[in-house]
Amino acid sequence: MSSPSSSERFSVETCRRTHVVDITDDVNRVLPDDVDGVATVFVRHTTAGITVNEGESRLLDDMETFLDGLVDDDGWTHDRLDDNADSHLRALVVGPSETVPVTAGALDLGTWQSVLLVECDGPRSRTVEVRW
Ligand code: ZN
Repeated sequence: MSSPSSSERFSVETCRRTHVVDITDDVNRVLPDDVDGVATVFVRHTTAGITVNEGESRLLDDMETFLDGLVDDDGWTHDRLDDNADSHLRALVVGPSETVPVTAGALDLGTWQSVLLVECDGPRSRTVEVRW
């Protein structure tokens, strides 16, 4: 017999146009202690994404520099609508979700892994959903 899935949401305030934020602690905080299985971390946004990588502060800066350099900020047809095609294209590379193993209510990540929210069109308030 399978139990019904549950979910929780929390908000993240981003500070820059491109901003990578370690949200591992926020995700762990919403997971009940009795959860064993997997959790999906998802954003309902088209210019932000979720990934898993190392949360070391200089590396987060490097990720932002890398993402900024990945795409030119003009010359896209979507810019005629709302001038943020480059933000969508960066989010396209990151993707909107990650699925992570959970043991006793905690993300079962590798030693150097963190769950990262990747803001591509900030600063904004973003909503993250965790479903298990
Ligand atoms: Zn747009």
